Amino acid sequence: MTAPRRIAVVGAGAAGLHTAEALRRAGYDGRLTLVGDEEEPPYDRPPLSKHLLSGQWQPDRLTLRDPRALDELRLDLRLGVRARRLDRRARTVHLADGREVPCDAVVIATGVRPRRLPGAGTPGDGTPPAGAHVLRTLADALALRADLCEGPRAGGRLLVVGGGLLGAEAAATAVGIGAEVTWLVSTDTPLAAVLGTETAALLTGLHRGHGVRIHRGTATGLLSRGGRATGVRLADGTDLAADTVLTAIGSEPATEWLADSGLGLDGGVVCDARCAAGPGVWAAGDAACWPDPRTGRHRRLEQRTNATEQALHVARNLLAGPDGTTEVYTPVPYLWTDQYGLRVQAFGSPGAADRFEPVDGSPEEHRFAAACVRDGRVVGAVGIASARALRGLRAQVAAHAPWPPEPA
Ligand SMILES: Cc1cc2nc3c(=O)[nH]c(=O)nc-3n(C[C@H](O)[C@H](O)[C@H](O)COP(=O)(O)OP(=O)(O)OC[C@H]3O[C@@H](n4cnc5c(N)ncnc54)[C@H](O)[C@@H]3O)c2cc1C
Repeated sequence: MTAPRRIAVVGAGAAGLHTAEALRRAGYDGRLTLVGDEEEPPYDRPPLSKHLLSGQWQPDRLTLRDPRALDELRLDLRLGVRARRLDRRARTVHLADGREVPCDAVVIATGVRPRRLPGAGTPGDGTPPAGAHVLRTLADALALRADLCEGPRAGGRLLVVGGGLLGAEAAATAVGIGAEVTWLVSTDTPLAAVLGTETAALLTGLHRGHGVRIHRGTATGLLSRGGRATGVRLADGTDLAADTVLTAIGSEPATEWLADSGLGLDGGVVCDARCAAGPGVWAAGDAACWPDPRTGRHRRLEQRTNATEQALHVARNLLAGPDGTTEVYTPVPYLWTDQYGLRVQAFGSPGAADRFEPVDGSPEEHRFAAACVRDGRVVGAVGIASARALRGLRAQVAAHAPWPPEPA
């Protein structure tokens, strides 16, 4: 097969942009189409629940590349239009505006979409009632901020549904701008599955200390009256009242446009270890699901750094072609979260550990780095304000090294 002359990247978020940049940097000079269904040029999502929601940053600070840098990529940039279908046989991406993008290779980078609660009492067309929010896009974040800071619900009761990182960050930011926040979680120590019990306990304590009311329960549906959200119903039959509801209960890969493509779509775009989903088809970022070399099980990472790293990887493998040397994707997962002025950083899977081994500081000091160990092996590392010590643990996470470390 000859080198591709036309590449389509679908999804103009971080993974899509970084794929396009990496292709150009590697010398690809053919046609490069970048398709995105949002109107905005590629922007960064992590600040949505932090600096943008708090009002510290305006939307223009989220832009990943200025217009000049985008121009230099010589893209056939199609923004504000959804990819509707991928015809692999004809090697064509069909767009919702009726246009077609012929391509020799396609990179799927369409990310995820937030799950929503069944909207009890919502109008039959499924339109969410006023005051009911999710948080994935710039528009979502601006709408939530407007409800928290302006108009009849400003300074009112915000109910955050979901005990993950997104819910935690939104709760922390919202309480900081004057909302009365209830955080609905399903376990005693939310975030333990991601960050490990010790770090999660520290953060949960900070939430309480800042006035967030933590309520344990499971929401089964959104309540509304007269087209406005009024709270949620819980599995035990009780209702929690609120003026504004943020649903942060996880997401689904945005792969509906691939339904008849013949690609594997089981919990994401199913790829091989090189991030190829089929001949000439690749996937990167939140939508991609590939076999973890350590476990052999397919996994997906919803992490910003992964979007960049996987994009670079895909660009390299794509240009290598089927006869070239392609590489297996073996990332060391990395995430961060900002809450109450602290930045928590983590490698690997701290939540999978059965032992927490601080190598610097301690959670009580709000400054530490710790190895997270399971069955005598380092499966993760987590830390706050101890970047150097944490970085030192990264190699041990990557190597799944024994703990305690073997003498040199
Ligand atoms: C509020 C928030 C805070 C976060 N904070 C952190 C954090 O602190 N740390 C961290 O590590 N990670 C964080 N993340 C996760 C991180 O932002 C994501 O992992 C990253 O943005 C994934 O990039 P992506 O390009 O794969 O997907 P996305 O950024 O979602 O980009 C996909 C793009 O494709 C578009 N699209 C979807 N379907 C179609 C279609 N059919 N046709 C055309 N376009 C389509 C989408 O609208 C979107 O624009 C956060 C995410 C959110 C939402």
